[in-house]
Amino acid sequence: LVSRKAHPENTIVNVNGQTIGDGNQYYIMGPCAVESYEQTRAVALAMKERGLKLLRGGAFKPRTSPYDFQGLGLEGLKILREVADELDMSVVSEIMTPSDVELALEYVDVIQIGARNMQNFDLLKTVGSVNKPVLLKRGLSATISEFINAAEYIISRGNDQIILCERGIRTYERATRNTLDISAVPILKKETHLPVAVDVTHSTGRRDLLLPAAKAALAIGADVIMAEVHPDPAVALSDSLQQMNIPQFNEFMDEVQAFSKKL
Ligand code: PEP
Ligand code: MN
Repeated sequence: LVSRKAHPENTIVNVNGQTIGDGNQYYIMGPCAVESYEQTRAVALAMKERGLKLLRGGAFKPRTSPYDFQGLGLEGLKILREVADELDMSVVSEIMTPSDVELALEYVDVIQIGARNMQNFDLLKTVGSVNKPVLLKRGLSATISEFINAAEYIISRGNDQIILCERGIRTYERATRNTLDISAVPILKKETHLPVAVDVTHSTGRRDLLLPAAKAALAIGADVIMAEVHPDPAVALSDSLQQMNIPQFNEFMDEVQAFSKKL
């Protein structure tokens, strides 16, 4: 069902009127993790000033180590909802277990399935059965075919509001956190009818590569750029090395929007 052959037109994922897949570029920005109301609001305000409406933030964090900050959980979702309602924005946030999906519906506008859960088939079936857009991230070591099959699990339950997100894959290369598989973008656009996002933060893991990676993603046809922004990345509870501060975010957006006008 996700195949372009079965459905030649682009699917538009409608997030409160933001029509992702319509040929325009969209930006999902926000902190790696929701840490407080003030922290989340500071980032959202900077986004609002630029007309960006898709606010991300992790409330349930899939951390590699059990001793790292695991997120604020439901409290984090409540903060996101409060800030988004105040500023007329939409919430994108990761849900890790099928039993939390129902709860999330009240707080989240886009359910994010993280890389580590791309093949959590119960979770895929559960989000496939609800009326809520899904941002599906590519697994750390997933082939494109496995990634497309994960999306098929969701759509086969009735939900076609899926954004595919390339977020880098594991290779032998250690200069970047993961290897951004940029050619996945045109392949996914060709093989499926779903909009495609590129997460420049988790793929590169390097602040100095966010801008060139975003330009490459736009040039190759991505519908959405995702990146992380924190008011003070040095004290962030997760991903402090690659989040942008607010002046860096503004500079990034200036450059990326100027670049996208030239495309
Ligand atoms: C995230 O976007 O918050 C995240 C944890 O990314 P990934 O699942 O791609 O590692
Ligand atoms: Mn992160």
